[in-house]
Amino acid sequence: MDIRIGYGWDSHAFKAGVPLKIGGLSIDHPEGLAGHSDGDVLLHALTDALLGAVSAGDIGSFFPPGDPRWKDADSKIFLDLAKDEIQSAGYRIVNVDTTLVLNAPKIGPLSSEIRERVAELLGILPANVGIKAKTPEGLNANHVAQAHAVVLLERIEERGDIQTMTAVMQSQRELEDVVQNLVSQVHGVPVRAPFDTEDIT
Ligand code: MG
Repeated sequence: MDIRIGYGWDSHAFKAGVPLKIGGLSIDHPEGLAGHSDGDVLLHALTDALLGAVSAGDIGSFFPPGDPRWKDADSKIFLDLAKDEIQSAGYRIVNVDTTLVLNAPKIGPLSSEIRERVAELLGILPANVGIKAKTPEGLNANHVAQAHAVVLLERIEERGDIQTMTAVMQSQRELEDVVQNLVSQVHGVPVRAPFDTEDIT
């Protein structure tokens, strides 16, 4: 299969006195997101979306919440592991799209900065990162941040590229043989190739 889709969701409660990080960006706000790690709800949803796209489990199966190693951990670590998983499965990211659901802070003025940071962390262009936000109307979740993320992956075509190059070189040799035969038929003498086609290392 050449393309895969992945979906991730996460939620964290706001807590006073905790630094706020969303999409790897530190945001000046009186409250942050409580969690065993740095509580970066957006990076957690993206991590699950990437892992899900290659059927590699979820963030909790790699990083159990009770493990002291991940206490206050930078969520970039989780994202990096998910990137490694999709790469070893033979895929790369085409684009991601996300929706944050929270009352405050307002994401609109921060969205381009979050987009740049997420793109940098994922190693893709900002044009391939969607950051959207909504308020939790009617959800009775005023003190919570939720994040939804979808990712599209495509198969890395390295092996195909090598096969294509080998086929081109082979057909070039065959063409040279045909030309040489034609020329020698016309002139009645064999013609040497202008350069040694074997010596291309
Ligand atoms: Mg989480």
